[in-house]
Amino acid sequence: MRRIVVALGGNALVRAGQRGTAEEQQANVDLTSRQLAELVACGYELVITHGNGPQVGNLLVKNELAREVVPAVPLHWCVAQTQATIGFMIQQSLGYEFERLGLSRVVATLVTRTEVSPHDPAWLDPTKPIGLYQPEERARAIMAATGQVWKPQGSRGWRRVVPSPEPVTIVDRQAIEQLISDGVIVVACGGGGIPVVRRPDGRYEGVEAVIDKDLAAALLARELEADMLLILTDVPNVILHYGTPEAQPLKRVTVSDLRRYQFEGHFAAGSMGPKVEAAIRFVDRHSGRCAVIAALEHARDAVEGRSGTHVVAD
Ligand code: ADP
Ligand code: MG
Repeated sequence: MRRIVVALGGNALVRAGQRGTAEEQQANVDLTSRQLAELVACGYELVITHGNGPQVGNLLVKNELAREVVPAVPLHWCVAQTQATIGFMIQQSLGYEFERLGLSRVVATLVTRTEVSPHDPAWLDPTKPIGLYQPEERARAIMAATGQVWKPQGSRGWRRVVPSPEPVTIVDRQAIEQLISDGVIVVACGGGGIPVVRRPDGRYEGVEAVIDKDLAAALLARELEADMLLILTDVPNVILHYGTPEAQPLKRVTVSDLRRYQFEGHFAAGSMGPKVEAAIRFVDRHSGRCAVIAALEHARDAVEGRSGTHVVAD
């Protein structure tokens, strides 16, 4: 059976223009689950991962507003909490879809840790903006009160920035593998995984960082020896000269050509950049593996080669 690691982007949970209420998110996940159930019905073995940017952002706001009333919780707790909530929503709707299609499959969410290095250069230069925009004065007050780092982010104000270290290994890989071998459809490594470092005494410790979900998905797919990494987002293709009259969608591209386009600067940091990097890392130059970047609503067509950007070995 072909094993596919599916990475769901922000639009699987919150659509453009929505506030992201619980009802909206569940309704979006319901639509997403239809796409995923269809793949399972076609006989693909899925492992599902997802982003959590807006959801973690909202929890951080609650931390700020409630700081005087209940203790603020660490950022890695927020990641864990969103893994649980988003996994819950997927279990609700994907489980229902399986029942509707007469598929006797079960879904389980694994709270997943991803190891990062305490020596990662990202610790010296926090770059990943998270949470709400604030005016400069408010941002400076929070920095003074909490020791957090905030930076100006253009006309909308200041935002907290945190390190985004490289994912090194999926700590809970064995648990995922055991669930897969029992036929369970696993939701794992949400939001890139809960970032932890391994201390000299062998203990893992949660750290204040976030891991890019696309890079973590690539690592997860490598560690699980998946046949395909499927990155589902809100555009049907990776595009050269994006946003210009020369825009050109890529249908099928080799790793080497994609690397060249990446050097030429076609892919924005923080959006398409990490997806392209994830695809390159997963496929490798000499493998038989394939990475596909496609629109969520074209999931099945993407897997079967009729849609999306297919990244293949040279
Ligand atoms: P997700 O939330 O699904 O992880 P992002 O919003 O981070 O996705 O990234 C997808 C977005 O990347 C698209 O909506 C598009 O606006 C943007 N983008 C930037 N550069 C490109 C490119 N070269 N080709 C396609 N999309 C691009
Ligand atoms: Mg997005």
